[in-house]
Amino acid sequence: MIPAAFDYVAPTTVDDAVRALAEAGEDAKVLAGGQSLMPVLRMRLAAPTTLVDLGKVAELRGVREDGDVLAIGAMTTHYDVLRDALIAEHAELLAKTTGTVADPQIRHRGTFGGSLAHADPAADLPAAALAMDAEMVIAGPGGRRTVPAAEFFVDFFTTALQPGDILCEVRVPKRTGWYSHYEKFNRVAQAWPIVAVAVTVRVDGGSIAEARVGLANMGAIPVRATGVEQALVGQQATAETIKAAAEHAAEGTSPAADGNADVEYRQHLARVLTGRAVSAAVGA
Ligand SMILES: Cc1cc2nc3c(=O)[nH]c(=O)nc-3n(C[C@H](O)[C@H](O)[C@H](O)COP(=O)(O)OP(=O)(O)OC[C@H]3O[C@@H](n4cnc5c(N)ncnc54)[C@H](O)[C@@H]3O)c2cc1C
Repeated sequence: MIPAAFDYVAPTTVDDAVRALAEAGEDAKVLAGGQSLMPVLRMRLAAPTTLVDLGKVAELRGVREDGDVLAIGAMTTHYDVLRDALIAEHAELLAKTTGTVADPQIRHRGTFGGSLAHADPAADLPAAALAMDAEMVIAGPGGRRTVPAAEFFVDFFTTALQPGDILCEVRVPKRTGWYSHYEKFNRVAQAWPIVAVAVTVRVDGGSIAEARVGLANMGAIPVRATGVEQALVGQQATAETIKAAAEHAAEGTSPAADGNADVEYRQHLARVLTGRAVSAAVGA
């Protein structure tokens, strides 16, 4: 179908984009890579009066070092995340996760920030952002604010972004030298996960010193498997300890039942995939 008519503006700075959104009112929408928004418009599931295209806002693209943090512009494409040397060195989990998103065409258009702002429970990057303790920098009519990933995802397709807000930057603490793995279970014809697990761990002298585990599609929002994290810390990274820790993976989750999997199967997948992901990360 053809989308309903809308006005289109393409500002070149964040300030101008915020102003354009404020002028257009509540029914305006931000356009990033368009990989999720355009299908929604074409199906007429949304009919915004104005699209504010961020494609020309150069300050929203790219990755830079800021002390112990990597600052990733919201409009950085999946493709650019994948080939970025800073991300490869300091945030390997993001590169590994991004490599599983969709296909090359979509990775060239879709953006890191667009995926987080869209907040699809089956998206890959929100779980990885949660496991990386990322923080979101948001610009709105009242200025800029920073929201941790644990508070950014609010519900199905709902984030802390308010009408008029723009996600500008994702700040990711450097995890240099940490081992990481993203394990996802998906239908062969599609890359969207039925369940997926983002794992990053720091190993010190053969023992797991720190662990972060984020689950995708195990609830309305990405979930940290804190039971697994606690069970891993202080343990030798052996097959037995990993298997025992992975048994905690479904604790505190509330996955949906749908045509792909019922609740019990998703919980089973969470345990199995967590075990595989930790083993793959540490090479056990
Ligand atoms: C066929 C297909 C397969 C896919 N497979 C996968 C997959 O396997 N795994 C996966 O995780 N994803 C998948 N995706 C989604 C893809 O990763 C998209 O890139 C992502 O969901 C949205 O990014 P975008 O830049 O295209 O955002 P858009 O589609 O432009 O925007 C999405 C939403 O976020 C809002 N938004 C975007 N950027 C901002 C911002 N900076 N500030 C405020 N609001 C913003 C928009 O207003 C809109 O509501 C797939 C998409 C398609 C079409």
